[in-house]
Amino acid sequence: MSTLRFEAIKETLNRKPIHVEEPERRSSIFGKNVFNKAAMRQHLTKQAYNSVMAAMESGVKIDREIADHISTGMKEWSIQNGATHYTHWFQPLTGSTAEKHDAFFEMEPDGEVMEKFGGGQLVQQEPDASSFPNGGIRNTFEARGYTAWDPTSPAFLMGTTLCIPTVFVAYTGEALDYKTPLLRSLQTIDQAATAVCKYFDKNVNKTIATLGWEQEYFLIDSSLAASRPDLDLSGRTLLGHASAKGQQLDDHYFGAIPSRVLNFMRDMETECMLLGIPVKTRHNEVAPNQFELAPIFEEANLAVDHNSLLMDVMRKTATRHHFKVLFHEKPFKGINGSGKHNNWSLSTNTGVNLLSPGSTPMKNLQFLTFFINTIKAVHDYEELIRASIASASNDHRLGANEAPPAIISVFIGSQLTKVLDELEKVTDGKLSPEEKTDLKLNVVGKIPEVILDNTDRNRTSPFAFTGNKFEMRGVGSTANCANPMTVLNAIVAKQLIEFKEEVDAMIKDQKLKKDEAIFNVLREYIKKSKKIRFEGDGYGEAWEKEAKKRGLSNNKTTPTALKAKVSKKAIALFEDLKIMSKVESESRYEIEIEDYAMRIQIEGRLLGDIARNHVIPTGIKYQNTLIENVKGLKEIYGDDFKKIAHEQMVLIEEISDHMSHINKGITDMTEARKKANNAKNAVETAHLYCDEVKPFFEDIRYHCDKLEILVDDELWPLTKYRELLFTR
Ligand code: ADP
Ligand code: MG
Repeated sequence: MSTLRFEAIKETLNRKPIHVEEPERRSSIFGKNVFNKAAMRQHLTKQAYNSVMAAMESGVKIDREIADHISTGMKEWSIQNGATHYTHWFQPLTGSTAEKHDAFFEMEPDGEVMEKFGGGQLVQQEPDASSFPNGGIRNTFEARGYTAWDPTSPAFLMGTTLCIPTVFVAYTGEALDYKTPLLRSLQTIDQAATAVCKYFDKNVNKTIATLGWEQEYFLIDSSLAASRPDLDLSGRTLLGHASAKGQQLDDHYFGAIPSRVLNFMRDMETECMLLGIPVKTRHNEVAPNQFELAPIFEEANLAVDHNSLLMDVMRKTATRHHFKVLFHEKPFKGINGSGKHNNWSLSTNTGVNLLSPGSTPMKNLQFLTFFINTIKAVHDYEELIRASIASASNDHRLGANEAPPAIISVFIGSQLTKVLDELEKVTDGKLSPEEKTDLKLNVVGKIPEVILDNTDRNRTSPFAFTGNKFEMRGVGSTANCANPMTVLNAIVAKQLIEFKEEVDAMIKDQKLKKDEAIFNVLREYIKKSKKIRFEGDGYGEAWEKEAKKRGLSNNKTTPTALKAKVSKKAIALFEDLKIMSKVESESRYEIEIEDYAMRIQIEGRLLGDIARNHVIPTGIKYQNTLIENVKGLKEIYGDDFKKIAHEQMVLIEEISDHMSHINKGITDMTEARKKANNAKNAVETAHLYCDEVKPFFEDIRYHCDKLEILVDDELWPLTKYRELLFTR
């Protein structure tokens, strides 16, 4: 066994649990490190406090003088809690979070020193925009960018640094981050949904989108992880033979949380409590060493920030517990990968969840309105939804023998299907009094009971209605939720705007009553969006065929899927709603296309290195042992040796055969990489990486994995799957 492999296993087995301090009650520390309403009330003047509240609730601009008051209060609060530095915290398009720390400490010209933090520093900063991806915006515009305070997400303390959530935009106004379009989409859906709510309740004047994500991840001992260059650099294992025992017994899923892991979770959750991240659920997942964590849902912008923050907190806490946390969608072949379900709904300032039925027929009609409009939006923009969850790592799940498929469809359950079938029969134009009564009593009126009964949940659906929310299941575990949430908010907003126009027109032109007009428009939407609804098994081949017949897209790879982001339809959608300009849409497409190619390139290089530097030399070493053995047998048995050494000689040849396949594979793959790198543009490069480079991975891996089970375990240099997954 290689020293590295041996030491890693030994270290893992010798780990002592790390002591964890937990408060008696979590509620007593919740939000302690957040400049939340309570802290603001204590540290801000009444005027400053009201100004932040107005900015949070209705987007009112904060004026500069008041910003000075706010920054002073924020500084006092954070210094009292141990802060020495502050940073503008943002989410550039690299997929992680970024921060540049500055000390509060200042020196005046006369040499006097003090802690300072003015309104200007709170409101705006200028990080070096040129070091973050901008997808060509730099070429067309100035390289400079700035971060600007987002008062809707509260500042928080990480260690000794005050972190201020911000947007990141170019000087010319183009968004360079995830948050900016998300905020714009939230504003759009607020307006669109509130306008529709007025049909049902005049008191509604604000609607927020809510998000509850569920984060899946793997935990691997840090020494074991470090012994695998592929895990270390690409986040996943590029080779490794399946372990005899994997997830087939489900013993991990149903077992107790391992104690070292539980300590990590307690520690991480305490940290989350301090940061105001309302984590609630923790459990083992299906694959060995796989776990899940879910919070209580929140307003979508805050929930997105909290998910990004959580991933940072998890990485840090894992290190303290000698773990490496793997967010990759498919770290191990042959066992389940990780996703991040995004539960989404809309909620009004009057406290109503718009995707939850109510106690009166009118409330249920409101529910149906939002329910059916969402289905229609997904129907119209299914390709854009698919594009919003596309990435090199998520390709291992979507469309590749794992949940959910790359085909977007909506599952609503058999009972709601019946309701929609009934509604489809609603008469055109005016409704008779009998029909109205029947609808009220027997269709709309029954919805709450229907939903309560509806326990059949289809786990294979990428977009499922789960009682009082829609659950988007294709989001990757590494992804920033802002991307899919921006798309979902945008398409539903557009749909609601259209709905309102159609209903208003019917009321005016056909002199229909409001509820008649609503029923009429909904009936048409049900008909038009039928093909997106699917209640069956989303994994089966039969569905692929059926979906094709229905004309649904099935974009299995990222380069193909991403195209929908720059379709005329998508660009127009974002432009019309003022969520993204054409330049912004195009720049994002370019960033993601480039990211894809780079990731496959890194994996290709890594696989080549490992196969040539680790695997082949090991194959040769073992082959030499066999050759020595055969030579010895020949010495003893003379001409009879062949019978006795038969197995060894077969093995010698098999090893050579695998090695030559590996060598040829790497040589050909390298050629393919060169071609891809020299392609005429980034899109072409990405397609070549996908179609010409990536296919070699499977074949090279196959022969490496075969060698792994042929070669003496003592010689094998790479930590094996069974060790990675089961050493504790
Ligand atoms: P499960 O889907 O595992 O049965 P739940 O129904 O309790 O569990 O919820 C799963 C996730 O959905 C949780 O993260 C929760 O916060 C979120 N969720 C529940 N209601 C809403 C809502 N109205 N809006 C957004 N997310 C929600
Ligand atoms: Mg779920």
